[in-house]
Amino acid sequence: MSLHHKLLRVLLPVHALLLTYAWWGSGPWWPFIMLLAMHLLLIGWGSMDHALGLFLHAHRTGRPGTLALTYDDGPHPVHTPALLDLLKAEGVQAAFFCIGRRVEQRPDLVKRMVDEGHLVGCHSMDHPVAWGFLGKERAVEQILRGVDAIERASGMRTSWFRPPFGVTSPNVAAAVRRTGMRVIGWDVRPFDTTFRTTEKRLSWIFGERPKGTVVVLHDTVGPVVDTTRAIIDRCRAAGIPLLRVDRSLGLA
Ligand SMILES: [Zn+2]
Repeated sequence: MSLHHKLLRVLLPVHALLLTYAWWGSGPWWPFIMLLAMHLLLIGWGSMDHALGLFLHAHRTGRPGTLALTYDDGPHPVHTPALLDLLKAEGVQAAFFCIGRRVEQRPDLVKRMVDEGHLVGCHSMDHPVAWGFLGKERAVEQILRGVDAIERASGMRTSWFRPPFGVTSPNVAAAVRRTGMRVIGWDVRPFDTTFRTTEKRLSWIFGERPKGTVVVLHDTVGPVVDTTRAIIDRCRAAGIPLLRVDRSLGLA
């Protein structure tokens, strides 16, 4: 049962009570309207921020004192091979949450990820802009087509899923339950597609001490290789082990 289902057990009777009080008891409407508005806001917030865990549980915090590198939106024809070269040279295993359409364009890269010991997860078939507003059936279809594309490319059927934009609406949660996927989120987002310098990205991740344990990056942007190299160097210097995310989460 999701956190929201548990909350509904309390909220629904209160909604009913306030509505009854306003409608039949001639009481004021504002308490009912205010609670309803707050409830709708909570639903929106819970959909946008998977950390809240309102509709589904996303694994997002790994073993303390370690770091797991995860990459979304690939594979990219130029940046992904360069990144794979670096990870291989450094002996680091990471996770790639791939978009099905891009998997179909470069199945060889997904095969290489699996062969080189990386975790490969599904990040939907098309990364729809309106992901948060999809119906349950459409979300199921996006997940399964993405998983099929990865299986055709690599021979491996993944059960890992990261929702586009990290958005976990009630329909997404229902689709995840239907497909039996396990959801991996993140607890550090260094805005690698926004910050311009590697220094800024690094100070966001590490600051005084590391902000979290699971970092989300994108292997679709040019700086990904430099950023990754800098993260690995910093971790080695500080004695922070780099773990594959499923091992860090204790789910391997
Ligand atoms: Zn994405």
